[in-house]
Amino acid sequence: MDQATDEIHDEDAGHDGPGDRPSKASPVPFWARLVLWLVGIAAVSAALILTTSVPAGTVIPAMILGALILRVGYFVLQQLATPPPPPPDPGTLRKVRLTYRCSVCGTEVRMTAATNEDPEPPRHCMEDMDLVAPLYE
Ligand SMILES: [Zn+2]
Repeated sequence: MDQATDEIHDEDAGHDGPGDRPSKASPVPFWARLVLWLVGIAAVSAALILTTSVPAGTVIPAMILGALILRVGYFVLQQLATPPPPPPDPGTLRKVRLTYRCSVCGTEVRMTAATNEDPEPPRHCMEDMDLVAPLYE
């Protein structure tokens, strides 16, 4: 019996990592997007007024309110999707020698590098850890 089936699972391709960069400068200016929204609201409002018996005094405020709710929802989702800032350059890290103890469970950790000489304490058991003096240098 020949077992000539090669089962090679090459997983080199397709691992680019998080390559999505948030573009701060939007190519479409604010006023252009506002005009686009207003044109869209006017077009849908006109279509609804012409095709249904709903009065314009009901359709137009409802369309404006709907667009506002959509925009606020999009803004909130955009805030949630914003990735954290990139890690600092290795050259900007300072060597520190700080020991922290968890006031709840007593766990101790040593911090050896930080972005400044007085870094924020790490958290453990949902609490900020306490800075303890080094026992020996
Ligand atoms: Zn703890």
